Amino acid sequence: LGTLMRQKLVDFWRQLFVLDNDNIFEINGSLLLPESVFKASGHLDSFEDPLIQCKSCKSMYRADHIIAQNTGISAEGLSLEELDKIVEENKIVCPSCKGELDKARQFNLMFSTGIGPVSGNKGYLRPETAQNIFVNFKRYASFMRNKLPFGIAQVGKSFRNEISPRNFLIRVREFEQMEIELFFDPEMANKFSLFDFVEDVEINIVTKGMQEKEWSKPLSMSVKDAVEKEIIPNQVMGYFIAMESEMLQALGIPKESFWFRYMLPHETPHYSGGNLDLEVKLSIGNVEIIGNAYRTDYDLKKHEKASKSTFTIVSNNKKVLPHVVEPSMGVGRILYTILEYCYREDESRTWSWFKFPASIAPIEIAVFPLMKKDGLAEYAQDLHLDLKDAGFVSFYDDSGKIGKRYARADEIGILYCITVDYESLEKDTVTIRDRDSTKQARVPIEDLEDVLDALLEEELTFEELLENQKNN
Ligand code: AMP
Repeated sequence: LGTLMRQKLVDFWRQLFVLDNDNIFEINGSLLLPESVFKASGHLDSFEDPLIQCKSCKSMYRADHIIAQNTGISAEGLSLEELDKIVEENKIVCPSCKGELDKARQFNLMFSTGIGPVSGNKGYLRPETAQNIFVNFKRYASFMRNKLPFGIAQVGKSFRNEISPRNFLIRVREFEQMEIELFFDPEMANKFSLFDFVEDVEINIVTKGMQEKEWSKPLSMSVKDAVEKEIIPNQVMGYFIAMESEMLQALGIPKESFWFRYMLPHETPHYSGGNLDLEVKLSIGNVEIIGNAYRTDYDLKKHEKASKSTFTIVSNNKKVLPHVVEPSMGVGRILYTILEYCYREDESRTWSWFKFPASIAPIEIAVFPLMKKDGLAEYAQDLHLDLKDAGFVSFYDDSGKIGKRYARADEIGILYCITVDYESLEKDTVTIRDRDSTKQARVPIEDLEDVLDALLEEELTFEELLENQKNN
């Protein structure tokens, strides 16, 4: 079921960000890259987290995490000296044995290996999907006939040797990202044509200024205003932010539960032209699930220098070294968020259930014979196969009482259960049971596919279906 949901999420993202756009294309790059790539990108020197070890039991912790847990201070991006000072002043000790903590030190998060039989040929598993897009930039630019703006998208595994993985899919060492590098002429950053389609989208935002004081509620404003007030660095990022906000809501995550927070200087790399993280309120605290980074021309410049070539292109009769905006989404973190927000426990049922929208539900419909005898099972089996043939993700179940089967379907978020009963044999009609209201409607078999399509596409509500039935 998790795999089906993951596939749906990736498909949803692909449709929205890649297939619906004429100038964003997807690649599938290698996971393993030579050391020279990460030397050039700066990852070898600075892709690290501060590690702190207990002097007695030798347990290791991420210094900024242990500080946050003990004091509530957000210490991400602070220097080793600053971290040591906070640990000392707050008398923070080892959480497992209460022993004294050693000084913090940096720990590089990349997994290293050897490439080929020649010793010393070091390689690394990629810690983000982006770098093979930058090293191949010239090839993609030529494919795009050097016409800016264009985007290169990629979905795939990234690997980070996290000091303390935790919280199910939230922090793991092997995770999937859906990323886009959108290359553009910096002089055209605020003339991004896709922005016109989304400029009125209202988003929740936490500005830099708000973070100087205690903030309790994000601001709500249109992306147009946010770009004009320079809260969002440019229209290119504004486009992605608007789309992400719409995407999460379509996946069942309520708008009031997430916001875009402007990253403070100590939380961003020195080259950033402005980063905004999408943070969501979860039972485990506020978590970043999407990072939007304005990486300027930093990466292309670094790879230009290391490869002694030029990445400047002639686009629209002008020489440009493109700038890049990168929306980076964690597949696992988004799935986790969907699970939390779609989970339901209510008084009317003795079982818990998932209110997944059709866009993410692993299985959309189920077909049940009321009983296994008298030809009902055969009728239901045929119907199930027909619905599968028609492209529905359908599940067949004939074991146990019908109520139990409804409960089982609710538990995995199936939206509509179709039941074949004796009336089906006589009149070729079936009942559709709605997961959310638990109400049932009877429809002729010949209308079933159209009705299901309309319900799943949200062109028809179940209430309207019941209304139509009354009127007929
Ligand atoms: P970052 O490059 O650190 O901004 O990460 C981009 C996105 O990747 C984040 O917003 C997360 O959704 C995801 N991500 C980063 N690190 C992890 C991890 N250790 N486990 C799961 N997802 C992660």
